[in-house]
Amino acid sequence: MPPSPSPLQTLRSQLTAFPRARLVAVSKTRSTERIMDLYLEGQRCFGENHALELRQKASTLPPDIEWHFIGHLQTNKVKIIAPYVHTVHSVDSPRLLDELQKRALQNSRTVQVLLQVHIAQEEHKFGFKVPELMDFLQGLEPAEYPNLQLSGLMGMASLTSQTARIREEFRSLNELFQQIKKLHSDKLHGFEELSMGMSGDYLMALEEGSTLLRVGSLLFEEP
Ligand SMILES: *Cc1c(COP(=O)(O)O)cnc(C)c1O
Repeated sequence: MPPSPSPLQTLRSQLTAFPRARLVAVSKTRSTERIMDLYLEGQRCFGENHALELRQKASTLPPDIEWHFIGHLQTNKVKIIAPYVHTVHSVDSPRLLDELQKRALQNSRTVQVLLQVHIAQEEHKFGFKVPELMDFLQGLEPAEYPNLQLSGLMGMASLTSQTARIREEFRSLNELFQQIKKLHSDKLHGFEELSMGMSGDYLMALEEGSTLLRVGSLLFEEP
């Protein structure tokens, strides 16, 4: 009997139906050995949510890994990840954007950033509220951020078992994304990424237009 496919192989075969979508393997709290297992299966894109952990892993693991920061990022932690991070998914304030620009410049790098939008019911979750985001984009001058590439939006659905609600949140995030692209096509170039979907809801996220899945436990935990 052939060996059963790994979770990564299974996910990859599902992704073939969605050619624009890519997988960020969320490796927070996982050991470098476990990350190397996926690396050897060809995975190059990993996501972390603590600055020191990202630095520790990025400075010891192969240099062709693309590191994504997916958690809430405090301004004073930006300098820790600036030499390594490829994409920050969780930009939720102008102040954080300014700090990212400053540190990316100091490191002579370009960093991709996604603006996090608050789409869930839970109040404690992070992200721009929609009117706040629209105001921010209205006043935005991308030329003030020469070392950042504003690449799209990120959102986290509500923690609920009501799948209809989750789908609706993903759908409205995608609608907002399309609306912003249209409204600001003059100044937002390469605004193409929609980061949504985790282990429990990634299939729905794909159907609703996700281009970046952030999947952790499904890849790393024993079934
Ligand atoms: C942990 C985490 C994920 C991955 O969650 P899983 O349910 O393990 O797939 C995705 N996004 C963010 C922001 C996370 O913190």
